[in-house]
Amino acid sequence: MAGIYFHIPFCKQACHYCNFHFSTSLKYKDEMVAAMLRELELQQAYLSGEPVETIYFGGGTPSLLDRRDLDLFFDKIFKHYPTRPDELEITLEANPDDLTPQKIRELRQTLVNRFSIGIQSFSEEDLKFMNRAHNAREALACVQNVQDAGFENLTVDLIYGSPTTSDAQWAANLQQVFDFEIPHLSSYCLTVEEKTALAHFVNTGKARPVDEEQAARQFEFLVKQTEAQGFEHYEISNFAKPGWHSRHNSSYWKGAKYLGIGPSAHSFDGLSRQWNVANNAAYLRSLNEGKIPFEKEILTPEQRYNEYVMTSLRTMWGCDLKKIDELGFESHFLKNVEPYLSEGIVERTESVFKLTAKGKFLADGVASELFVENE
Ligand code: SF4
Repeated sequence: MAGIYFHIPFCKQACHYCNFHFSTSLKYKDEMVAAMLRELELQQAYLSGEPVETIYFGGGTPSLLDRRDLDLFFDKIFKHYPTRPDELEITLEANPDDLTPQKIRELRQTLVNRFSIGIQSFSEEDLKFMNRAHNAREALACVQNVQDAGFENLTVDLIYGSPTTSDAQWAANLQQVFDFEIPHLSSYCLTVEEKTALAHFVNTGKARPVDEEQAARQFEFLVKQTEAQGFEHYEISNFAKPGWHSRHNSSYWKGAKYLGIGPSAHSFDGLSRQWNVANNAAYLRSLNEGKIPFEKEILTPEQRYNEYVMTSLRTMWGCDLKKIDELGFESHFLKNVEPYLSEGIVERTESVFKLTAKGKFLADGVASELFVENE
C-alpha cells in the first residue's frame, strides 16, 4: 500500500507561527498545477507499482484549488498509478475562510472524501494572535456547512499552549469539537519556530513565550477529555473515534512508501528519502525543463532504526522488537529501554513496547534516548 502527497504552496496570508513552505502570491497557481502534473507523470515508477490507497492534499492551502485542478490530478493518477478507486482515502486540507457553501458544493462534485480543517481555535483573540485568515464565526460556520453537505469524514486541527489560550478557552475549544461530533482531531502545541513572525515577537518582547506548564496542563486535559468522549489516542497529536483514523498518516507512521509532489514535498521508498526544492520559482523552472529538482539521502541502518523508534513509539501500536531485530539493533534497544520499563514510562506486551499514560508526556525525550548514533 502506498500514498501520494501533494504540497500546494500558496496561502492567502502568513500565520505568525508557520514555517512551512508557501507563497502568498497566487499569480503562478495554474503554472504550478501544470508543473505538479508533470512531476506526477515523471515519478510514475517511484512507488514500484504498489497500489495507491491514500491521497493527501496538504500545504500551504489546498482549498485554494478549484474542482478543475483536483480533477486534473485525479485523472493523472488514474492514468499512471495503480489504485483501488473504491477504497481510496482522499483528504483535502481546507481553511475555514475558503469553505463557503458554494465551495463545499463544488468540492462535493470531486473525489475528495475527507476534510482536514485548519480551525486552530474558535476564539477570536487566539485567531488574531496567530494571524489566521479566518475569524471565529467562520470557524463555526464551516464545520456546520461541511456537515450539512454530507461530509462525515472530517478532522480539525486545534492549537494549545498559545499565550492567548486560557484553560477555560481550551476547554471551550474542545467542547465545540465534541458538540459537532467531529470524529477526528489533530492537536499541536504552539511552537515558536525560528525565522517566523512569532519568533520575532517573542524575541522583541511583543509576545509572551509559550508557557511550558500551561502547555503540559492543556495537553493533559486534551488526553483526558478525548478519552472520556471515546476517542482513541492513536498518535501523540492525533485522536480518533474507532474506525476514523487517518489512513494516510497511519501509513507514514507504519513505514509505508509515499510519493510527495510539489515544492518542498518529501518522498520515501522504504530505503531512501528525497525532498523537492522549497522554492516555487526554482521548482517551476526545473519542471519546465522536464527535471525534478530534488535532493536524496539513502538511509543508513542507524537512521532507519532511529526513524522507526521515533515514529512507532508515538503511536498506540508501539514498536515491535521483531522489526528492531530485523534492523539489527535489538540488544541496543533492550539495554536502553530497561530504565523506562522500570519507571513505568514504557510497557511491554510480548514483543511490543508502548508508552504508558505517564510516558505519553515524554515521547520525544524517550525516543531520543533509544537512538543510536549515525555512523
Ligand atoms: S494556512 Fe497553514 S500553511 Fe498557510 S501560513 Fe497558515 S499555518 Fe502556514
